[in-house]
Amino acid sequence: MTIDHSSLFIGSQWTTPSSSERITVRSATTEQIIGSVPEAAPADVDAAVATARRAFDDPRGWSNWDPSRRAEILDRFADEYTSRSEEIFTAVSQQNGMPISIARQLEAFPPVLMRYYADLIRKQPAEEVRDGVFVTTATVQRRPVGVVAAIVPWNVPQTLTATKLAPALAAGCTIVIKPSPETVLDAFLLAEAAQAAGVPDGVLSIVPGGRDLGAYLVSHKDVDKVAFTGSTGGGRAVAQACATLLRPVSLELGGKSAAIVLDDADLDLQKVGQSMFAATLANNGQVCFLGTRVLAPRTRYDEVVDTFANIITSAPVGDSLDADTLIGPMASATQRERVSGYIERGIHDGARVVVGGSGTPEGIDRGWFVKPTLFADLDNNAVVAREEIFGPVLSVIAYDNDDDAIRIANDSDYGLGGTVWSSDPSRAMAVAGAVESGTVGINGYIPDPAAPFGGVKASGIGREFGPEGLAAYQQLKSIYQFG
Ligand code: NAD
Repeated sequence: MTIDHSSLFIGSQWTTPSSSERITVRSATTEQIIGSVPEAAPADVDAAVATARRAFDDPRGWSNWDPSRRAEILDRFADEYTSRSEEIFTAVSQQNGMPISIARQLEAFPPVLMRYYADLIRKQPAEEVRDGVFVTTATVQRRPVGVVAAIVPWNVPQTLTATKLAPALAAGCTIVIKPSPETVLDAFLLAEAAQAAGVPDGVLSIVPGGRDLGAYLVSHKDVDKVAFTGSTGGGRAVAQACATLLRPVSLELGGKSAAIVLDDADLDLQKVGQSMFAATLANNGQVCFLGTRVLAPRTRYDEVVDTFANIITSAPVGDSLDADTLIGPMASATQRERVSGYIERGIHDGARVVVGGSGTPEGIDRGWFVKPTLFADLDNNAVVAREEIFGPVLSVIAYDNDDDAIRIANDSDYGLGGTVWSSDPSRAMAVAGAVESGTVGINGYIPDPAAPFGGVKASGIGREFGPEGLAAYQQLKSIYQFG
């Protein structure tokens, strides 16, 4: 499948780009060109923000519509996404190497989120009247925050767009989205779905470009809020720009989560193999919340190492579009170099290579592949145990007892995801509660749209999903009434 476009989607309409620069995208598996689209220039960002501002400020426009009308558009948007979903999954899989079977799960969130927030905004009262302490009544109103700049990474591009788009539209905001250049083709399919759903003029723009364009958008004078998902380094730069402007910002950043295997965990691969794979290696390790530090009780260390060795060796590596593939290539040549560098570093620092190692998988001579790798006999101070690798590389670290496991899990700059594996629900809950992280799964992991998702420490600020995700796109205003 190839996707080529000559127009940009600005203010919910196809428009002529202001520059002739283009972004060319290659397949992560074949390295062949699979499409090209216009690259937005600062002038296109100016146009996108201006039209978003006008649409937002219109007294009879989107932000002032009855919420049920916006909910109807979101429901239609969900239908239009669903009718294009196979095309979208294929585009994502080709671009970033996400196995197609995993794309059908990880990139299926957008219609779920659109319907979830449509439902929530239908039910949410626009205002609440409270008895005052000093005044007769205080009326607390919820208003949309304004023009949103949304910056998204390449690893799960559609779902990470929808975590911002769906609540922002439900709240009544207008939005300018900057996708990553690595995964820009699927953004054009999203634009087609938006247009077919009848998203009104000005409400949605998509400006493809790199980090300089992102920085330009973040600091644009007419933006009211920034929502960023990406690396911790990128997040710090965005936060600094927003601090100077006193502009609200939410940050979903990197992770180095722990998969804590308690000594009573069931390690029967038939029962837990699939969920352990999903929680530690999904999308070729290119997911922020994965538990890439496997913490194993010293008494069962070898058993845990064997379990993860089996999980890795039984996962077919290959073309991301092959239905049987469970581990595909890295998203780009740069990402492959980065991950390969970490594998070399682990070997250099003396970790034992149980599976994988340096070089490319046997029989594969093109595409941005690395060997899925399992390291053992290392401690939590090793570079590969501390830094986010963002590839199919796991480290198994031994611990002495539950308190020691919690100590090691929390000895990290990050705090985003993680799991606890145990056959005792109350013991697992106690350990999960003690882990310093925004989210933890027990015997499995998947972010749930109903519950807030986000990080602590260097993993970010703010929450997406749930009613909290909607609140991030709303302002509260209190009106004090006397007499
Ligand atoms: P990245 O930070 O390089 O880029 C992310 C996006 O931000 C891209 O669109 C990029 O162009 C833009 N960008 C980068 N620097 C910017 C700046 N200074 N100003 C404005 N825009 C800027 O990250 P990446 O390599 O594309 O994505 C992988 C990272 O994203 C990993 O660290 C991963 O953990 C993180 N991530 C976090 C979550 C989460 O929910 N916490 C989810 C997915 C990915």
